Amino acid sequence: MRPTDKLLRLASGSRLLFGTTRASRIISVSALFFAVCAFGAVGVAPMAPDASDLPVKKIKEELALPALDDQVAALEANDQQFIREATFKSSEPLASFLQRIGVDDDEASQFIKSDNIARSMLQFRADKTVAVKTDDEGELLWLQTTVSDGPDKPVRNITISRDKNGKLTSSDTTANLERRIEMASAYIRTSFYQATDDANIATSIAQQVNTMFETNVDYRRLQKGDYFNIVYESFWQNGERVRTGRVLAGEFSNSGKLYQAAWFEETGGKGGYYTFDGKSLKKAFLKSPIEFTRVSSGFSMRVHPISGQWKQHKGVDFAAATGTPIRASADGVIESVGPSGGYGNLVVIKHWNGYSTAYAHMSRFAAGIHKGMKVSQSDVIGYVGTTGWSTGPHLHYEFRVNNEARDPMSINMTEAAPLATAEMNRFKGFAGDMIHRFNLMHPERMAEVMRLATKRS
Ligand SMILES: [Zn+2]
Repeated sequence: MRPTDKLLRLASGSRLLFGTTRASRIISVSALFFAVCAFGAVGVAPMAPDASDLPVKKIKEELALPALDDQVAALEANDQQFIREATFKSSEPLASFLQRIGVDDDEASQFIKSDNIARSMLQFRADKTVAVKTDDEGELLWLQTTVSDGPDKPVRNITISRDKNGKLTSSDTTANLERRIEMASAYIRTSFYQATDDANIATSIAQQVNTMFETNVDYRRLQKGDYFNIVYESFWQNGERVRTGRVLAGEFSNSGKLYQAAWFEETGGKGGYYTFDGKSLKKAFLKSPIEFTRVSSGFSMRVHPISGQWKQHKGVDFAAATGTPIRASADGVIESVGPSGGYGNLVVIKHWNGYSTAYAHMSRFAAGIHKGMKVSQSDVIGYVGTTGWSTGPHLHYEFRVNNEARDPMSINMTEAAPLATAEMNRFKGFAGDMIHRFNLMHPERMAEVMRLATKRS
């Protein structure tokens, strides 16, 4: 089979998934092309460490030795200079970093703290790669790093250099970034954040994955063998990853069930995550009103006996420390706030379609929460406590349909209205590309696509 035959065959297979119009076929072929290119990176990308963590390779080369006299003369003529590169951790004091990177220069250290431009390398609390050039005494000759005020702000190159007269100067220029699309996979062995750390996935990306599936997955109840695959943007300069961008699409397998979502911006609207059939995940309910953080992941896998179980008393109990924030599980209006018998401090939120949610035993309510107030999904409404009939700090959570309690874990809440037709067609083109990428990460799924394609022809 010629490679082109194979491509066409694959493309016709992919057409089964994406629809049968000519336009979608063209999209499929280009999607495949992307996916094939991306596939080369699959083996590498999940394992690829953050560029800033890569060890600097030292290459040793045998050189013919010039006469000793010449060497001494050369050393005296040219001072030795060193170039080093290291990650400046957001938590690290400047003095310790400079020492670590071999800069022994009080003037430079003072300059970084006082110069308006140079100081920006201290201001934005994110890890950054810093390159320096020093002489053999540790005097700074040159320093270069990139900074950004935030994920959507432009990235700038900050350079400090010592001029001929020995005076330090700084410059600030816009970085010329190249956008790349990367893929990554992570397998859950102990906890979510352990898995993302093992796979060298940046924290900002891990947090987005967390957010995109929190209406499908309770991260405190993951199981060994759960996994996810993601496609995300990253921005590079001079062969170095400067920062990561948005997670464009992802799939999460939880207890054998696969959830898939892609980022999409409706024309003129704010973006959000949608299932591959075009339903907004924002319109669903959170699986856990308790936020899942790096801290909570520490004890995530040994599920507390009362955590997340549907009880005879028609609610779900989430064990958490007193004071842990409780979030509205979906958009709605506060129906009631106040003490309520055995429930202790209780908040009830009214949503759409006769759905409502109740949050009990709170130690206190969020400041300003009152009846009739509009809340958005994930807004903090109160804090975990043990008021009312409760034996220890936990959140008692009820999900009600027409005032009747139902097990939220058993209800598929992605029932929001799908995208309008025109938007849906645009979305399907993008989602098709993403589905194909994910299929390529699963040989067994690809085999199925091939089998269907063969059967058809
Ligand atoms: Zn309960």
